[in-house]
Amino acid sequence: MTDLYRLLPEEMEQLVVDMGYPRYRADQILLPLYYKFPKELDDIPQLPKRLREELTATGYTIGSAKEIHRVVSNDGDTTKLLLGMTDNSSVETVLMQYEPAVIGGHPRSTVCVSTQIGCAMGCVFCATGQMGFETNLKAEHIVSQVIHFAEMLQQRDEHITNLVFMGMGEPMANYDEMIRAVKILTHDRGFGLGQRHVTVSTIGIRSGIKRLAEEDLQIGLAISLHAPNDKLRRKLVPTASPNSVEEIIQDGRDYFKKTGRRVTFEYALMAGINDSPEIATELAKLLRGNGSHVNLIPINPTAGDFERPHENNVLEFKQILSDAGVNCTIRVEKGTEISAACGQLRTDLATQS
Ligand code: SAH
Ligand code: SF4
Repeated sequence: MTDLYRLLPEEMEQLVVDMGYPRYRADQILLPLYYKFPKELDDIPQLPKRLREELTATGYTIGSAKEIHRVVSNDGDTTKLLLGMTDNSSVETVLMQYEPAVIGGHPRSTVCVSTQIGCAMGCVFCATGQMGFETNLKAEHIVSQVIHFAEMLQQRDEHITNLVFMGMGEPMANYDEMIRAVKILTHDRGFGLGQRHVTVSTIGIRSGIKRLAEEDLQIGLAISLHAPNDKLRRKLVPTASPNSVEEIIQDGRDYFKKTGRRVTFEYALMAGINDSPEIATELAKLLRGNGSHVNLIPINPTAGDFERPHENNVLEFKQILSDAGVNCTIRVEKGTEISAACGQLRTDLATQS
């Protein structure tokens, strides 16, 4: 069985040509797939019946995700779904909506997709890391997460504006499937989202960052740093040992040089662990002068015993970075009370939220 959501538009074209049909038949499949969300081939009536039958007979399907569970935050801005995939796996995915910048405008709707079930990186503060690694998601299952929300939003006359690879898993540890999904979702004959509206977040897998820089894509990169030195970082990210902080920062600079896209360093702030003014000063020294952007994320509660720093400490930390000329923002968290925020995704707990 091959899910048509797995195919790049060029591959779809090749498929219909190999079956003896003209190229334009590919667009007659692609357009409905990404704008009308059919559930089966017979939902595409403009396609000749014979082609539909041949596709089915050769094992092509449309593998839509099924909603198993939905939780919506009190303010209605965050929706977390547990989706069942065609291979019977289930995965969490989140939609975050932000007020329109102008009256009457469309809200910003960001989908936070998962690339793996669980994660092997074992970050001590992350619920996904603590559940361990289960499996890599296929590209079609990454795409399905977006399609599911796209269909939901279409019913409200809204659409997805941004995509972040910040759900469950480490995108670079599932590089081939992740990048296939990125290409399908940003292809102008696929889902068609602007490359600049897509961000991939990584714990700092160097080979992945280098490969991404070579892709000739305009997508954003976020590197989860969390500490200004290796000693502290290895405590928080136990699998970080092969990559030093210096090397990861250098990779970020190289990515910027190659793509022109600025890299964001994510920094989850934990009270008494990595939030002191001394550590802020060390981080500022490391990052100043190279145009980096730091996104501070006051830690979200998980099963671990890490606590969110007091707001004043967060502001002081930010001030130290800003004073050193390091561009810095504090992430506005969404969906914490429904366990849909950064680091809180964990399949086995989803149905209890
Ligand atoms: N594996 C990738 C992408 C998924 S995690 C990565 O680590 O970058 C997405 C972001 O959520 C990362 O910056 C991660 O550090 C952050 N995160 C993980 N656990 C968190 C928690 N408990 N509170 C706040 N942010 C967390
Ligand atoms: Fe994996 Fe990212 Fe969580 Fe670390 S923070 S365990 S890399 S998902």
